[in-house]
Amino acid sequence: MTDTAYPDLALVIDGEVIGAGARDGIDVIDPATGDTLGVLPKATRADLDRALDAAQRSHRDWRATPLDTRVGILKKTAALIRERAQDIGRIATREQGKPLKEAIGETLYAANLFEWMAEESRRTYGRVLVRPPGQLARVTYEPVGPVAAFAPWNFPALNVARKLAPALAAGNAIIVKPAEETPATALAILQALIDAGLPAGAAQMVFGDPAEVSGHLLGSPIIRKLSFTGSVPVGKHLMKLAADHAIRTTMELGGHAPVLVFDDADIDRTLDLIAPNAFRNSGQVCVSPTRFYVQSGVYDRFVKAFGERVAAMKVGNGLDDATTMGPLANPRRPEAVGRMVDDAKAKGARVVSGGERIDGPGMFFQPTVLADVPIEADIMNDEPFGPVALFCPFDTPDQAIEQANRLPFGLASYVFTENGRQANRVADLIEAGMVAVNHGSVSAIDAPFGGIKDSGHGLEDGAEGLKAFMVSKTVHQA
Ligand code: NAD
Repeated sequence: MTDTAYPDLALVIDGEVIGAGARDGIDVIDPATGDTLGVLPKATRADLDRALDAAQRSHRDWRATPLDTRVGILKKTAALIRERAQDIGRIATREQGKPLKEAIGETLYAANLFEWMAEESRRTYGRVLVRPPGQLARVTYEPVGPVAAFAPWNFPALNVARKLAPALAAGNAIIVKPAEETPATALAILQALIDAGLPAGAAQMVFGDPAEVSGHLLGSPIIRKLSFTGSVPVGKHLMKLAADHAIRTTMELGGHAPVLVFDDADIDRTLDLIAPNAFRNSGQVCVSPTRFYVQSGVYDRFVKAFGERVAAMKVGNGLDDATTMGPLANPRRPEAVGRMVDDAKAKGARVVSGGERIDGPGMFFQPTVLADVPIEADIMNDEPFGPVALFCPFDTPDQAIEQANRLPFGLASYVFTENGRQANRVADLIEAGMVAVNHGSVSAIDAPFGGIKDSGHGLEDGAEGLKAFMVSKTVHQA
């Protein structure tokens, strides 16, 4: 079951692969077994200074590299990731826990993103403004400058690709700090770039104490762009650090996605689309369908059918073919989810399915369905980031919209109704960066992905995701 060798872990700075050696190490744990997979070297301050120097120097060369060469390297990277998707997927499952099929699918999506960003980089057109004869004003787009990026553990391949692909496609050098929980997947993505011919220094990968690394990198005037995916409190903290050097920011923070199910929804289709999605990656997804507001006429039937589907899920090691939900990614998650579920139960929520930690060496929690959850339960207000679906009934569409918009988050939302006018109205009134209407997903490589309010600002994917790594320049000429 665990035949893929777990690779050696390293920092990659200015083209040099730096193994553990004399540096302090961090254990990387298999969340399905609790076993130690490897030891990750922690970057020293001198390592980070070297990464900054390399990024500054390489930025000048990479932005001056002919577009055809850059596009060729990124497309070759996509091809190599595709070729290696089975192996990269197995590594991702071992260090993060998700079912292998999901990990391979994520890896292929990451490959597609490299290809799409490479192609889109040919189309960062500027414009010429109307001026009197003999005069000219033109707007062009340039690489923003060296990037510092921080990617979390929930999508070990895709989160890192969402930083590397657009930053490099836009012509920037980058320093990425992936999550310390999932370093080998991130290193495999970087290795594909290196094997495709990326010049040394265009991309560095560092690991360490997250606060020390971000403090050091964002304290440097070399960094011109911060791209962060993670929690709201850490995101707000990094925005304050970025302010000192007026560093531009893209912040992809948490969510608490509402799902509005109306009486006239196609119930079976809705269940097919949304029930698996709510427990994908054990609910550790910023766009996870979380707060289900279901209209009174179908509430009991919907909750019962949803609970039955969830009770049939198979929780286990992601490398096991039969597994439909793996462990949580680190020991903090079952603790936090357990605390929130207990609080909801104590405040009157009804357990329809699950509700408990699963004993064992791994970090498992039962897929959980809670109904009639009171608004004052912590879990109705803080992101569970775990395998929990919350159900509440509503009577009128306006009540549902009010509840959907009640929280300070505004990332994803989901609406199920067969009434087209209602679908349009709700999609217009819901406060979110992305709305899925009779659809199970809000993510596509060509579509902007991001939130409003506390869920962050700036966008990933799509043309907007590339432009996020560029700055405009206007030249006025008389
Ligand atoms: P956390 O806040 O400790 O860590 C989240 C991520 O941020 C990790 O990758 C971590 O390495 C990084 N991080 C933490 N402190 C940092 C710092 N000072 N500088 C730079 N990076 C830093 O939380 P966690 O327990 O790992 O995850 C739980 C919470 O994180 C969830 O509740 C969720 O809100 C959020 N999260 C969000 C996403 C997302 O896709 N938006 C992904 C993972 C985690």
